Amino acid sequence: MSMFGQVYVKDNKYKPKGNFHHLTPNTPIRDADNGWKLLGVTNPRDMTYMHSYGGEAVFFESLGQGKLLATRCDSDGCDLKGTIFMPFRIHCPDCLGRNTEIDLTETAKKSAKIHTFMVCERSGAFNLLEKPIKFINIEFDGVATILMSYLSRGEPEFGLRVVPIFRTSSPTFTILDLSWVVEGTSVEELPEGFSF
Ligand SMILES: [Zn+2]
Repeated sequence: MSMFGQVYVKDNKYKPKGNFHHLTPNTPIRDADNGWKLLGVTNPRDMTYMHSYGGEAVFFESLGQGKLLATRCDSDGCDLKGTIFMPFRIHCPDCLGRNTEIDLTETAKKSAKIHTFMVCERSGAFNLLEKPIKFINIEFDGVATILMSYLSRGEPEFGLRVVPIFRTSSPTFTILDLSWVVEGTSVEELPEGFSF
C-alpha cells in the first residue's frame, strides 16, 4: 500500500483509498522560564487537500504529454472572438462563453519570449524549485495574455527567446511540469525528467 492516501472519482463521488492518517509522536511543551515545567504537548497532524482542477484538468494532463494547451473564444457576437488565452481560461472573460481548447505548443516553440522577469534568492515554505528561482513572464505571437512560469536553464533578459520544456517522466500534474529554457539549450542540459 502506498504511504500516501490516494483518491479517485466514481459515480461522481470522491473515493479516498489508502492511508490518510499517520501517527506522529507528541512532544512536550515546557516552560523555559519556570524550571521546564510541563505546559502541554504538540499534536502533529497532516492533511490531504483534494484540489479539483475542474475544466483546467486537460491543461495539466497535457503538460506531462509534452503539450501546452491554450483556449480561444469562438463565440459569435463576442467583441473578443478569436482572442487566445494563455494561461488556459475555461471561459471568455467578455462573453462568459465556454472557450475552445487549442494546442499552443508549436507557437510557443517558435515565438515565446521573455516579457519581464524576477529573480528570487529566497523562497517561501514548501518550495520545490532550484534557487535562485528565475520567474519569467512570457509573450507568444497572437496571444492576448502573458504566462508566468520559471526559467530552468540560462539567464533571463527582456525579449530573450525561450522554449518550453515538459516533465514527461514522472509528471507531478501541477504547473511545475512546465518550465522554460533559453533557445539553443541542448537536450543534455535539461533538468532530470524534462524533455522538449
Ligand atoms: Zn467571448
